[in-house]
Amino acid sequence: MGGLLEELIHKLCTLPGIGPKTAERLAHHLVRRSEEDVRDLADVLVRAVEGLQPCSVCARVDEQNPCSICADPRRDRALVCVVETSRDLEALEAVGEFRGVYHVLGGRVAPAEGVGLRDLNTESLVARVRRGEVREVVLATNATFEGEATAAMLARALDGAGAPTPLRLTRIARGIPSGGEIVHMNAAILGEALRGRGAFPHPGAGTGDAERADT
Ligand SMILES: [Zn+2]
Repeated sequence: MGGLLEELIHKLCTLPGIGPKTAERLAHHLVRRSEEDVRDLADVLVRAVEGLQPCSVCARVDEQNPCSICADPRRDRALVCVVETSRDLEALEAVGEFRGVYHVLGGRVAPAEGVGLRDLNTESLVARVRRGEVREVVLATNATFEGEATAAMLARALDGAGAPTPLRLTRIARGIPSGGEIVHMNAAILGEALRGRGAFPHPGAGTGDAERADT
């Protein structure tokens, strides 16, 4: 065994989440596969990289530019959901409920790593707000320390963008997860759950919209 195997392991190591041990395991697995199998894998890798690109409007990774969401005339362009990554976008989109458009930041503010708001994809969003094209921005960053910091800093930047029309800033709801029991939740989660409470449909009054009751 010479340099080829080492080269393969080294290349696999450059992928996120793949450490030397995993890379070694993958490399040994791949060389045992049929040549046809591996050619298929290599082929789809190349085609994906060549055929996918970030949307020039929202930065979602897609085969077309503007992406299929931004190009969809049925979407409400004045309602923009801001997410950290394209993966977050696809997860929210898979729910099938959101009728607005998105904006992908391409990361989050991480003071410990020296990542500030200016390192993220915010300019085009601020420009959209400044042009008065946006009515509401849904801050859908993660419920982590960094995600909260990102939401707070972005909210300040959007507030100061000088939108010609009133801009509504909202944050995705937090609180008790589905299947969670109150006695197992900490005070922070319970506080969020109470503040973010929504209307409960009256029995017999049809389905009714569950409107948020917070201020
Ligand atoms: Zn797009």
